[in-house]
Amino acid sequence: DTIGANLGRAIASWPDREALVDVPSGRRWTYAEFGAAVDEVARGLLAKGITTGDRVGIWAVNCPEWVLVQYATARIGVIMVNINPAYRAHELEYVLEQSGVRLLVASLAHKGSDYRALVDQVRGSCPGLRETVYIGDPSWDALIEGAADVPPERLDGIAAGLSCDDPVNIQYTSGTTGFPKGATLSHHNILNNGYWVGRTVGYTEQDRVCLPVPFYHCFGMVMGNLGATSHGACIVIPAPSFEPGATLDAVQQERCTSLYGVPTMFIAELDLPGFATYDLTSLRTGIMAGSPCPVEVMKRVVAEMHMEQVSICYGMTETSPVSLQTRMDDDLEHRTGTVGRVLPHIEVKVVDPATGVTQPRGTAGELCTRGYSVMLGYWNEPERTAEAVDAGRWMHTGDLAVMRDDGYVEIVGRIKDMIIRGGENIYPREIEEFLYTHPKIADVQVVGVAHERYGEEVLACVIPRDPADPLTLDELRAFCADRLAHYKIPSRLRLLDAFPMTVSGKVRKVELRERYAAG
Ligand code: ATP
Ligand code: MG
Repeated sequence: DTIGANLGRAIASWPDREALVDVPSGRRWTYAEFGAAVDEVARGLLAKGITTGDRVGIWAVNCPEWVLVQYATARIGVIMVNINPAYRAHELEYVLEQSGVRLLVASLAHKGSDYRALVDQVRGSCPGLRETVYIGDPSWDALIEGAADVPPERLDGIAAGLSCDDPVNIQYTSGTTGFPKGATLSHHNILNNGYWVGRTVGYTEQDRVCLPVPFYHCFGMVMGNLGATSHGACIVIPAPSFEPGATLDAVQQERCTSLYGVPTMFIAELDLPGFATYDLTSLRTGIMAGSPCPVEVMKRVVAEMHMEQVSICYGMTETSPVSLQTRMDDDLEHRTGTVGRVLPHIEVKVVDPATGVTQPRGTAGELCTRGYSVMLGYWNEPERTAEAVDAGRWMHTGDLAVMRDDGYVEIVGRIKDMIIRGGENIYPREIEEFLYTHPKIADVQVVGVAHERYGEEVLACVIPRDPADPLTLDELRAFCADRLAHYKIPSRLRLLDAFPMTVSGKVRKVELRERYAAG
């Protein structure tokens, strides 16, 4: 199916059930109303001369218009380019130019960001960008009014010419390990993935899915929006960007059955003053992804948020995104110690990065995935595509993993972050988790830096809990002695106020390594 055809099926099956609710504005759409609103935006885009294969950018915080543009572009075979609302002029310019965006839909302003001013700043250097439509502005109203000039039959004519293998979306990776790459994804890639993620948590038309995660990321637009609509469930938007209070309000008020987030969002919700006063008994499931979930957090999510069927996902932008997911009835250990097992119609293998030979179960190696979910390629970057996807269509994830005997997979870290000291492989995550338990350490990142004799040595970058009483290297070594193998004990220490981060909130280890390479 194409995304448009799949939505058509949901409209036919559940016309009167709710498809979309925006809590901040109180606006709500049934599936029939949602389908009509999507068609109106699609016709508005056609009236502006946008046609199949063109790129339309969306640079906005979460709002109903974001969702309408997602489905409207898919309906007419336009390739939507998601742009992170945290991007600034330089990053915006790169993405607009790299993907060739003709029309941009943007928020006006949010939390101190003036999007119109930033667009004005880059317009001169983006000759391909013809027009910008701002949400909540007369230019949006004009887009909708333009729909009157395009007969509705034109939509069905266009739909008849689309294939589910056509590109529908370009999503840029987070840029954790380098410059962001534009993963080009088809209807088949992301619609199937949303469907299977939703099916794994048992969605039906009775479900109401609260989405405080950003739509520009696949977590929101694929696992969230497509996951919901492919099963007739309802998308609930609690706020334009994450706020723990607004999220819990939305769950309570809309009787949501499912809640998404990265682990830090769940921590913020659980720690919110007044958390205990919220009625969250409607929740049964949800999805946690993006980084490992601490056991204590998982226990509280299950017990205090009633999410007995919460699921953990592992994925990456290039694979639509999810390839591994825990099941609703998995025990706590599997839901914290692993990222689950492979989804239907996807293959995974763990290989020796040097030889490409499949490792025995229990041995770490590079995780590779294959199946319908692997992207078409990086937009206009055939060389980088060839580095990531091999001739057998296996996507090399760059992540190190161990497959257990029971088929569940543990993520050990990223290959690029692995430290090789005197021939010993060291996984920074193991050392970081151990160091987190030191009372003087608020946060820590471990990286490898060049060393003449050992090749690399271990550097701990620490944010001290109390800057007035910082950790010393001697204290650090005494803490590790007898508890970590000698070669894993950091030989160098740096005290920092903050780590360099990507705009999507991941630590850029590559920058820490560069910064301290020379001592
Ligand atoms: P770039 O590819 O530009 O360096 P990125 O890899 O961070 O950035 P994304 O595609 O957003 O960009 O993130 C995918 C990565 O996130 C995975 O390769 C993996 O390293 C990490 N990841 C995703 N889910 C999990 C999880 N459940 N547990 C641990 N790590 C995860
Ligand atoms: Mg990546």
